[in-house]
This record gives sequence, structure tokens and C-alpha cells, in this order.
Amino acid sequence: MTDKDISDEKNNCNYYATQDCIGCGSCLSVCPQRCIDMSQFKAVIIQENCLHCGNCKQICPVGAIKEL
Ligand code: SF4
Ligand code: SF4
Repeated sequence: MTDKDISDEKNNCNYYATQDCIGCGSCLSVCPQRCIDMSQFKAVIIQENCLHCGNCKQICPVGAIKEL
């Protein structure tokens, strides 16, 4: 697998928050796009603005962010 394949794979996945979210807001604080809506006290990733960087998944203390 080349570097390009790896980056394509990364860019194609969609991150989303599950109902395990406890509303801590950590993901929003590390999101370079600030594209996580916390207005309903659970994280909702605004897909069209997401860069697929994975910061939110890495920082989530309860593993609530998954990839499709
Ligand atoms: S993957 Fe990156 S850009 Fe997308 S919601 Fe998570 S932190 Fe924000
Ligand atoms: S870091 Fe995890 S638990 Fe905290 S708001 Fe984001 S998705 Fe929810």
C-alpha cells in the first residue's frame, strides 16, 4: 500500500459520535474545524466541514467517536 492509498483511505472515512457521548466537549476543543455541534449536549459531527483528522476520536475519553 502506498502513502497515497493510506491517505485516501483516511480521507474516505466518516467520523461520527455515538450515544456513548457524555458531552464533555473535549472533541470540540481539539477540532481544527470546530465542526462538532454540542448544542444538544451530545457531540454531532458536521460532516461537510470535517477534515477527517481523527483528533476527536483520539481525545474522546469514552471512545464515543467511531469511523464509518
Ligand atoms: S475528524 Fe477532525 S475535523 Fe473531523 S470532527 Fe473530528 S476533530 Fe473535527
Ligand atoms: S470527547 Fe467524546 S464524550 Fe466528549 S463530547 Fe466528544 S464525543 Fe462526547
